[in-house]
Amino acid sequence: MALISFASVSFTSPLINKSQFCGSFPVGIGSARKNRGVKFCRAAASSAVVFPRLDADDFRHPLDKQNTVLLRAIPGLNDIGKAFLGTISEQVMVLENIGTSVLVSENQLSELHHLMVEAAGILKTEAPDLYIRQSPVPNAYTLAVSGRRPFVVVHTSLVELLTRKELQAVLAHELGHLKCDHGVWLTVANILTLGAYSIPGLGGIIAQRLEEQLFRWLRAAELTCDRAALLVVQDPKVVVSVLMKLAGGCPSLADQLNVDAFLEQARSYDKASSSPVGWYIRNAQTSQLSHPLPVLRAREIDEWSRSQDYISLLNSAARINGVQKV
Ligand SMILES: [Zn+2]
Repeated sequence: MALISFASVSFTSPLINKSQFCGSFPVGIGSARKNRGVKFCRAAASSAVVFPRLDADDFRHPLDKQNTVLLRAIPGLNDIGKAFLGTISEQVMVLENIGTSVLVSENQLSELHHLMVEAAGILKTEAPDLYIRQSPVPNAYTLAVSGRRPFVVVHTSLVELLTRKELQAVLAHELGHLKCDHGVWLTVANILTLGAYSIPGLGGIIAQRLEEQLFRWLRAAELTCDRAALLVVQDPKVVVSVLMKLAGGCPSLADQLNVDAFLEQARSYDKASSSPVGWYIRNAQTSQLSHPLPVLRAREIDEWSRSQDYISLLNSAARINGVQKV
């Protein structure tokens, strides 16, 4: 995110439901500093390969690149975004999150703290603050506001729904937004989806066309950050499982869910929407979404996990790590 101010929309919530959605990000604590200057080939307490020279463009989705160019080409858009963020809305979001959540640290929910620090180390980025917030809506999001460290918020129901590895995939997804500098637009999108849009005077600032373009870009950015999740957990089934659970999981069904069947479902969605009518329905279904449909995200990450790009990243990191070990 541009270091001006930003927020990123959550990992979840496909619908632009102002009362529901995702997130924002503030600032981190000592967690991040712990990684500074520390060289490691493998993340502590896990066998994951770390990426010592990882650049955001190494894993950025092509649609993310394409839509970023389109967004920037709209005259005056950047000014509108900054004006939007300069309002009271961002302060409302920050205070609401910090004031009603539990801040994770070495001395508070240390297991979750470790997951975040480890994920940040693998992606070679600084760990933001992490808050756990009471909510029945499974969600996670990032928010960054001018002059403050970004923060990630995870809802309690998401913690209940996921395994620890899956939860780390979610944290890595949020770190992906930071690593990719998704910046100001992610913050605007988060504020929109988090409900601050209803604050008097703000709604009119964002025209419908801008909102559509913004969410088109955001859907592409989500695909990028699913890749960041895969880079950390290094098992596509973990990422797909998260998406499956967000689509229709609950704790009592967790041990019966089948990742392969969910991927098959994704392929059947493609087939069903390939006709002209299907294409129209699919387009209508997705144009108002801040996130791509879970099945499509699952298919995308499954395909990327088998791509030469992903394999090369892993091999190259392993080679560097080997040299560092010597
Ligand atoms: Zn996201």
